Amino acid sequence: MTRYARPETVEEALHLLGDGVWRILAGGTDFYPSLGDRPVRDHILDVSALAALRGIGETDAGFVFGAATRWIDIARHDLPPAFDALRQAAREVGSIQIQNAGTIGGNLCNASPAADGVPALMVLDATVEVRSRESTRHLGLSDFILGNRRTALRPGEMVTAVNVPKRAARGRSAFVKLGARRYLVISIAMAAARIEAGPDGTIANAAVSVGACSAVAQRLGFLEDALVGRPIDGDLGEAVHVSDFAALSPIDDVRGSAAYRREAAVEIVRRAVRAAAARPASGELAA
Ligand SMILES: Cc1cc2nc3c(=O)[nH]c(=O)nc-3n(C[C@H](O)[C@H](O)[C@H](O)COP(=O)(O)OP(=O)(O)OC[C@H]3O[C@@H](n4cnc5c(N)ncnc54)[C@H](O)[C@@H]3O)c2cc1C
Repeated sequence: MTRYARPETVEEALHLLGDGVWRILAGGTDFYPSLGDRPVRDHILDVSALAALRGIGETDAGFVFGAATRWIDIARHDLPPAFDALRQAAREVGSIQIQNAGTIGGNLCNASPAADGVPALMVLDATVEVRSRESTRHLGLSDFILGNRRTALRPGEMVTAVNVPKRAARGRSAFVKLGARRYLVISIAMAAARIEAGPDGTIANAAVSVGACSAVAQRLGFLEDALVGRPIDGDLGEAVHVSDFAALSPIDDVRGSAAYRREAAVEIVRRAVRAAAARPASGELAA
């Protein structure tokens, strides 16, 4: 018989996970569509009553996003300008209704190549906290998301938080999403950039990532290196070259061809880099 549990403590949730095979349910915005017209056959562990998994906090080490924090909460939270890309991505996940239910943890665990949260979290060097009854692991995003719909989660584990270290919470960031229309659309490609200026007005650190152009979103290391040392008020778009994108492996699908994605990725990365260098402080952004 299918079981349904909605524990109120993480310990209780981990105890259940260690004792049988459960499917985790957060906002359900990927969970239910993935069922199609099949009935639910797995035991369901609903994490929506776990208060410890909700909300955004700050410690000496960095920023902590509970795994069941909803996109709407991220979009509305007052965060430093380095998080502007994440807040913009939050506002572009589906629609208000989807943002009211969908969570950051669900986005990562669903591991879709088109997950908007992933590039925005990559430029923040985010790590994923994974807990089981016996252990806690912290994995970088590229160690957590292993492929299309594949994660490093083991039986008995759940994601409890997403952490951003203080050193990556500096500078400004921007997110650019390309879809077939403005709202309620899955990305054809998306890009995030975080730019940190040094005291001399040149770029001290840069982080750039692209999603939906490979099975897992990727950082563009060559471009990041090429941006460092450039004047922040120069035309940073000029630093973006097609060769920076060689490691991408876009596919043809209903949303766009591989060739279109390759071309579009170059343009949206240029826009993201320029916007990250030019953005107003996040307090000035419309909530
Ligand atoms: C109409 C529509 C539009 C959408 N548009 C977008 C979009 O524009 N961009 C985008 O990125 N996504 C989009 N999505 C997908 C979805 O809304 C997001 O990926 C959302 O963040 C998923 O979160 P959730 O809480 O609903 O996850 P759920 O559906 O509850 O779970 C998703 C998967 O993650 C697992 N899971 C969830 N939480 C945990 C946890 N804490 N530990 C371990 N496993 C867990 C579940 O078992 C399941 O396999 C859209 C979905 C719909 C229905």
